Amino acid sequence: MAQDEKKNVEEYKLDADSELRFEVEAHATVQLEMLEGMGEVFGTELTKGKTYMFEQGAKVAVFTWHGCLLKDLLLSCRTEVAYVAKETPMVMYVNTHAALEQMREKAEKDDTRGPRVMIVGPTDVGKSTLSRLLLNYAARLGRAPIFVDLDVGQGQVSIPATIGALVVERPADVEEAYILNAPLVFSYGHSILSTYSVFSTFQGQVSIPATIGALVVERPADVEEGYILNAPLVFHYGHSSPSANPSLYKLLVSRMAEVVNMKCDKIRKTSVSGLVINTGGWIKGGGYDSLKHTAGSFEVDVIIVLDQERLYNELKRDMPDFVKVILLPKSGGVVERNQHQRSDARDVRIREYFYGIKHNGKDSFFPHPIEIPFSDLKIFKIGAPALPDSCLPLGMKAQDNKLKLVPIQPDIRILHHVFSVNSATSTDDNVLEHNVLGHVVITSVDSEKQMITVLSPSPNPGLPGSILLIMDLQFMDIE
Ligand code: ADP
Repeated sequence: MAQDEKKNVEEYKLDADSELRFEVEAHATVQLEMLEGMGEVFGTELTKGKTYMFEQGAKVAVFTWHGCLLKDLLLSCRTEVAYVAKETPMVMYVNTHAALEQMREKAEKDDTRGPRVMIVGPTDVGKSTLSRLLLNYAARLGRAPIFVDLDVGQGQVSIPATIGALVVERPADVEEAYILNAPLVFSYGHSILSTYSVFSTFQGQVSIPATIGALVVERPADVEEGYILNAPLVFHYGHSSPSANPSLYKLLVSRMAEVVNMKCDKIRKTSVSGLVINTGGWIKGGGYDSLKHTAGSFEVDVIIVLDQERLYNELKRDMPDFVKVILLPKSGGVVERNQHQRSDARDVRIREYFYGIKHNGKDSFFPHPIEIPFSDLKIFKIGAPALPDSCLPLGMKAQDNKLKLVPIQPDIRILHHVFSVNSATSTDDNVLEHNVLGHVVITSVDSEKQMITVLSPSPNPGLPGSILLIMDLQFMDIE
């Protein structure tokens, strides 16, 4: 390793099967270039000679199967944690990918369905990273699997407190922390319930002016060709933990499975490519029940348990024989986060929804303040406080309350909360099972004028739907 003090440049020569791990500290940026050989970041190949920028907070590993030479240039004077690790579980991960690929080949031959994989384990064991790796490897082979993200704590397809699905047809961008490689969109148009075709019927408009090179999608992408232009499918949950409303969480998981099945029935390539389902770290008690419910809803074939022998044994005991349960070790590079860091990561994710990923320290999207009269909106919270059984009407169970739409009068209590714009056109429709068209934050409430101001990802004067669902999450629009 050679170091040039002034420029903060370091070169790392990686042997085969090793990885360079680094974390970018606050207010720092890392520029990385591969000078020789071949390397990849969580399954996405690096291009030789191209400069990649990683912004503060990024936790990255560059792995090489055959060896490579990397130039790592730190753009600020802060120290950065960087080291080369020779021990990684990558061989086991790639073998898992190879086994899944064999299942896809078999599905192609036998005219059946490809592998449906669910990744489970406690928090911070690398579940999201392994999802990304398996999706990237599949996409590199020309597959188009569906990524289903059920982790409401972080949320990679949309923002936290939602569950989402996305067809992954090309590897994720190296610099982005998320699998999502379509632009973040505020989808307009139809709800999934009112049309026969799923995912592809959304019309999306990217929330940035076309002048800065943004893509404005004015009509649905072609079903057979352009998955990349498709908006992700997102359902509103509203909390950052599934334990806050298990009945709602289960309902949404079942609904997601139903819609994903519709997509697979329609598109053979996706059906053969299968699913990669990422889950949250809630694995005990109700969390375990919820994992079993997820496995059943999606009819998974493979469950990968990361780093938890107990969970592995429980699932082996409880799953039907045709479900393969595999235990894999976690990577020593996975960075553990405490409650604060997790909450900060949620804030960053919401900010990214409105402002896009930073490039060279600059935002790539610009949200818009929009004024809307109270009368144009119907605002709800999902779930009424639990009542004792004795107070409930005959035949009604307490848990039914958890799925109730409770109207909210606009006042300062809803300030700074994040809301989902629901695709249902009337409250007579099944609002809970309708997908989300996008998110807004309420930034002011003027009771005198009966007006609300929202931060919207789109410059359009109105919202694409009138039903707003409140989230626990708040977002303050400050740098
Ligand atoms: P989980 O989904 O289980 O909570 P993640 O996959 O989100 O865990 O991993 C936590 C963090 O660790 C992420 O920021 C990820 O980028 C980072 N990470 C994962 N694997 C590695 C690695 N091999 N080297 C460095 N950082 C890693």
